[in-house]
Amino acid sequence: MTDDHGDPKRDGKIVKSEAQWREQLTPEQFEVTRHAGTERPFTGKYWNEKAPGTYHCVCCGAELFESDTKFDSGCGWPSFHAPANGAPIDEHVDRSHGMVRTEVVCSKCDAHLGHVFPDGPEPTGLRYCINSASIDLERRDGGEGEGGGSTR
Ligand SMILES: [Zn+2]
Repeated sequence: MTDDHGDPKRDGKIVKSEAQWREQLTPEQFEVTRHAGTERPFTGKYWNEKAPGTYHCVCCGAELFESDTKFDSGCGWPSFHAPANGAPIDEHVDRSHGMVRTEVVCSKCDAHLGHVFPDGPEPTGLRYCINSASIDLERRDGGEGEGGGSTR
């Protein structure tokens, strides 16, 4: 029970209690991913991020999006036109707030990620509008130099 990262047994599902998630996540990450919250636009960590890399689920570490599908939607949240290859993305109809939208969740751990809209760019025509609080960028360029340095 000490290995928390992606032990793919029982169809790979990761199940934790609210208390365990609360301990692992920041309050904002917890609110967004476990209670389907939405961060305020233009406040998240990644809406304006352009660095190459892979975005992982902040809860379970699954690969969800690649930076090459990220585009500038102007909506204030990180936007992607497609999930990463084989990403565990699930989509549900969400009728909350008097709208019909399609909710996007991580199927591995049921984290709420954001919504997908049919107004994205080619080639998919989709816009995955994702909360920064739900994802974690693993930079591809190694990120050495001043500033970062958390991996040394
Ligand atoms: Zn996940």
